[in-house]
Amino acid sequence: MEKKEFQAESKRLLDLMINSIYTNQEIFLREIISNASDAIDKLAYVSLTDQNVGMDRSDFAITLKADEKYGILTISDNGIGMTKQEMEENLGTIAKSGSLAFKKELDSDADIDIIGQFGVGFYSAFMVADAVSVVSRKYGTQEAWIWQSSGADGYTIAPCEKETPGTDIVLKLKADTEDETYSKYLKAYELRALVKKYSDYIRYPIKMDVEHQKPVDVPEGEEPQEQKFETVLETETFNSMIPLWQRNKKDITEEEYHNFYKDKFFDFEDPRAVIHFGVEGNVTYKALLFIPGRTPYNYYTKEYRKGLQLYSSGVLIMENCEDLLPEHFRFVKGIVDSQDLSLNISREMLQHDRQLKVIAANLEKKIKAELVKLLTGDREKYDAFFDSFGRQLKYGVVQNYGMHKELLQELLMFWSEKENKAVTLAEYVDAMPEEQKYIYYASGESRTRLSQLPQCETVREKGYDILFFTDDVDEFVVQTLMQFKEKEFRNIAMEDLGLQSEEEKKLAEETEKASKDILGFVKEALDGKVSEVRLSSSLRSHPVCLVPDAGMSFEMEKYMKRMDPEFKYASGHILELNADHAVFAALKGAIDSDREKAARYAKLLYAQAMLIAELPLEDPTEYTDLVCSLMQ
Ligand code: ADP
Repeated sequence: MEKKEFQAESKRLLDLMINSIYTNQEIFLREIISNASDAIDKLAYVSLTDQNVGMDRSDFAITLKADEKYGILTISDNGIGMTKQEMEENLGTIAKSGSLAFKKELDSDADIDIIGQFGVGFYSAFMVADAVSVVSRKYGTQEAWIWQSSGADGYTIAPCEKETPGTDIVLKLKADTEDETYSKYLKAYELRALVKKYSDYIRYPIKMDVEHQKPVDVPEGEEPQEQKFETVLETETFNSMIPLWQRNKKDITEEEYHNFYKDKFFDFEDPRAVIHFGVEGNVTYKALLFIPGRTPYNYYTKEYRKGLQLYSSGVLIMENCEDLLPEHFRFVKGIVDSQDLSLNISREMLQHDRQLKVIAANLEKKIKAELVKLLTGDREKYDAFFDSFGRQLKYGVVQNYGMHKELLQELLMFWSEKENKAVTLAEYVDAMPEEQKYIYYASGESRTRLSQLPQCETVREKGYDILFFTDDVDEFVVQTLMQFKEKEFRNIAMEDLGLQSEEEKKLAEETEKASKDILGFVKEALDGKVSEVRLSSSLRSHPVCLVPDAGMSFEMEKYMKRMDPEFKYASGHILELNADHAVFAALKGAIDSDREKAARYAKLLYAQAMLIAELPLEDPTEYTDLVCSLMQ
């Protein structure tokens, strides 16, 4: 029999398959089953117009058969089959377009990944088999052919017998080695698992005769003895065939969606929201997305991997396609199925990038729209969602130099002092009295502490709401946004509240001038601890507060310090005194009568300001000594 050479490029691919150390070699089954399914598609199509096919849709099937004795796995289909010439053309060469792209990739380190992600079709059989036979009979012809190869040295084609049209792929599996077992591909449970994993939604049944142990019935009249079992063969269908996402939305119950989600994504809680849609056009695809009901335990760690499952016409081609999801929506789970994405590496390499981008951009829009829908239509649900993933949205605003802030800002929520619940920025701004100029916020560790901030009183007195920031990222969000609906943000603990009238300002300046000596005295007494001492415009019942003199708030500095112990506090401190407070008068009195006592007052006031700002006292003992000395 004449032995024929593979084309040069096929040979390279084959070499790679044969010597593959690729851990994901199990995808060979997916590749062969997909080919079988395509072949059945073709015959099913012919049968629409050709009565002679004599087959119903229900007659089509893919059959697996394992011969453990000889180590042979056979995958059969009753599809269109191949003529001798087709065998030669299809199995001896790689599609021209793909070979080029593949060759390029081969020269890089990426080759192994490509196998897993996009498949390499029929040749992947050589990852697990050292001899492959293809027995095929084309529909409408009488003769059958057998194609045989044991690898790179070539293949033979010879006539053979086959009763019905279709194709058998016969794999003589490699012998098990220390590192690899191939015999597992003969076990029904392994094959079943692989079909479930990769080919569950193939539209034709994937069947196998599986051995089961059945209890033997005791013949009538005999005494029941020890239960006996016999081995029986039962035909099992491994795949469930119809993907949920291909079904009509209105025929699917919420429970079906929820069960699917829990099953597929290993969650025990129902999803918070389901997004199911199809797109037809330049890129046609179906998407079924879920917003989980809770934060995965590893969500904010490196372990968590974002991504969607990517299918091509019901066949899984990628478990975790990261490119489909933007970072800020990385909590979304789900699948995308597009017939435009080919299993085949060839077309894949050329096109997948552009198409995936189109899909990803669309998904982002849909997810945003769904969140807006929740926010406006089901606030309770949105609140719960925000509890789980709100922090992610905030990170999303900050990341990439605020590139996504327009998209995300309306989804954010912060705690409102007035409403005593989380509100959106739009809600805050809409509720602002007409004359209110700024969006006020305070940031710190807990809401209770924040509500006790001395500066709150002034804002509150005006009837203005204050947003309480308790997430580390909150202040960064505000710095990125800068403003919302043309309203700027003001940190009540560090910035001018902008509440004074011209007259009040003038008056304050005068008081400041008149108090120059007192302020100078305090500054000197504090001996370099503060960069400035001045009168405050934002204090009411409290005597002092501390304000950073650089752009960074104390909260931000604390955060930086937590992230990086080497971080040096950059801000100096400005001590602000309340000139209307009785303590201020006492201080003034002391300066006139007992300067040593007045110096102690100054130190005390500074310590109090530090405490209120939740900053560590340099010398707590000195502070308590001071208090004691005053009490005695
Ligand atoms: P691809 O399926 O991506 O085109 P493959 O290498 O997997 O590439 O297969 C090459 C070709 O061989 C297929 O396009 C098809 O024409 C043919 N083929 C493979 N398996 C079968 C089969 N079971 N029945 C009929 N034709 C097949």
